Amino acid sequence: MKIASVKGMNDVLPTASAEEASFHGGVWAEVVGAAQRVFSRYAFDEIRTPIVEEAALFARALGESTDVVGKEMYAFPERGGDKLLALRPEGTAGAVRAFLEKGLGANDPVQRWCYFGPMFRHERQQKHRYRQFYQLGVEALGVAAPELDVEVLALCRDIVLELELPGVELRLNSLGDPADRAAYVATLKSFLAGREEKLCGECRARLEKNPLRVLDCKNEGCRAQTAEVPASWESLGPAAKEHFERVRAGLDALQVPYVLDKRLVRGLDYYCRTTFELLATSLGSGQQTAAGGGGRYDGLVELLGGPPTPAVGFAMGVERLCALRAQVKGLPKTAPELFLAIADEAGRARALPLVQALRKAGHRVEVDWRGGKVGKQLNRADKRGAKFSLVLGQAEVASGRGKVKRMRDGAETEVALDALAASLVDPEGN
Ligand code: AMP
Repeated sequence: MKIASVKGMNDVLPTASAEEASFHGGVWAEVVGAAQRVFSRYAFDEIRTPIVEEAALFARALGESTDVVGKEMYAFPERGGDKLLALRPEGTAGAVRAFLEKGLGANDPVQRWCYFGPMFRHERQQKHRYRQFYQLGVEALGVAAPELDVEVLALCRDIVLELELPGVELRLNSLGDPADRAAYVATLKSFLAGREEKLCGECRARLEKNPLRVLDCKNEGCRAQTAEVPASWESLGPAAKEHFERVRAGLDALQVPYVLDKRLVRGLDYYCRTTFELLATSLGSGQQTAAGGGGRYDGLVELLGGPPTPAVGFAMGVERLCALRAQVKGLPKTAPELFLAIADEAGRARALPLVQALRKAGHRVEVDWRGGKVGKQLNRADKRGAKFSLVLGQAEVASGRGKVKRMRDGAETEVALDALAASLVDPEGN
């Protein structure tokens, strides 16, 4: 019996179709490359933390009552040990654990980190929602100034611009400081008192465990009940209010467009003050339309046993960025510039040094080492979408010259093998 992949866990392959752009290796390379260029401009340095951490780290950091911990975490007992381990559902908790464990704050209280890697959540599977998915993001520790929030938001915007993503909107909210948040939860509870019956079953349970989540329920009935609820930014304490105003002023100064969204409470307990999401309008409706999200988590380092340390970060979903990118750009061409067919053993011997020299000069070259019928090899050149092909055999080796064929129209040019690189340019473009 053949063994299939696990539900919700996907292969990323060069052969994925346009409909499967979320899993196309070439689109992935574009998305990750663009993000890394932007990270670098903002002077963020890459970190990689383990995929497996103690489950208790996520329970403490994210909150026991969150869906991510309570319902979706892949947890399992350590083999031969007594710890409960978990596949990481997000990147922030591990980053903060590393920050504390390595005592990095003592050396330099300011850390600017970026990361890219797989996350795991046992969610109900649907389009754009997977059980293994990849996030790229940043964590900036040690700075309380609102300009850092602005910088992180501008960085998100720059990734969107760099990738030319369509229809991505920045949504912004502030949950304030813990006291503001607690007061807002109380406001929300009294607003919803008497409306319980009209909420969905899940929201009725949330009223007890995590009332803020009622605000981002996608159920139309629940949304109608919360339509008139006051926004959390209307009742911020003076410090959080000033912070929020400075974030907004900074975004305006940089002409980063955003929309205030009182429903944006984010799923995780650790957020305070600024929270944001990148909403992708062209991915379809529903919860799965967020391309990224993040915010401030000033209390998290302390919650995990460290000194008070302000911090801000975000994560974007790579599969969703890929789907958006392919909507406007299609699938990238990863075809070879030159495809070399081998006519005989003399050609085979000459091919290796020849293609290595071309590669050294930066060209993308493939050889059909299978040899055999030249026609068959050239069919493969076609299939690979190669720009040019060249057949290499005894005659070419002896004369030091060969015919470079432009695949799109079959036009042939005779060139010296030593000067092959110069002929890999199509004067008519393409
Ligand atoms: P979160 O940590 O839930 O705020 O997620 C940040 C981003 O990761 C989201 O905006 C999505 O783009 C992506 N993401 C979260 N969960 C999933 C999932 N199950 N499948 C695919 N992408 C996801």
